[in-house]
Amino acid sequence: MPVSGLPPYDDNNIFARILRGEIPSKRVYEDEWALAFHDIAPQAPVHVLVIPKGKYCSFADFSASASDAEIGGFIRAVGKVARDLGLEDPGYRLLANMGQHGGQEVPHLHVHLFGGRGLGRMISDR
Ligand code: AMP
Repeated sequence: MPVSGLPPYDDNNIFARILRGEIPSKRVYEDEWALAFHDIAPQAPVHVLVIPKGKYCSFADFSASASDAEIGGFIRAVGKVARDLGLEDPGYRLLANMGQHGGQEVPHLHVHLFGGRGLGRMISDR
């Protein structure tokens, strides 16, 4: 069920098409709950996107409607990808953009995972 006040999920968004294998991606991890792939326009030496396999636009949608198994599976996948990429030490950043003010371009929930260099403090005003 869509969460009240949120737009319906768009089956043709680019990450839905990646999940269906209609367009290619450089995959780094996949399991029952999540898919991780390299961002097409990397903003750090490591820039990977992790997405849940279910049809969720946003964190509000995901947290309200996804099952505990989906939520657990997605969060575990994010942690595993970071570990497998060797980012735990010296560290990395997770970022999730939501909606217009968040600068979200693709309306399928995703977490950006940045690493490979010092990332500075918090958000930029660019
Ligand atoms: P956001 O602004 O948080 O919605 O970020 C969307 C991200 O998706 C951007 O960093 C884009 O570079 C990335 N992106 C868009 N199309 C693709 C694609 N086909 N494969 C991989 N990453 C993509």
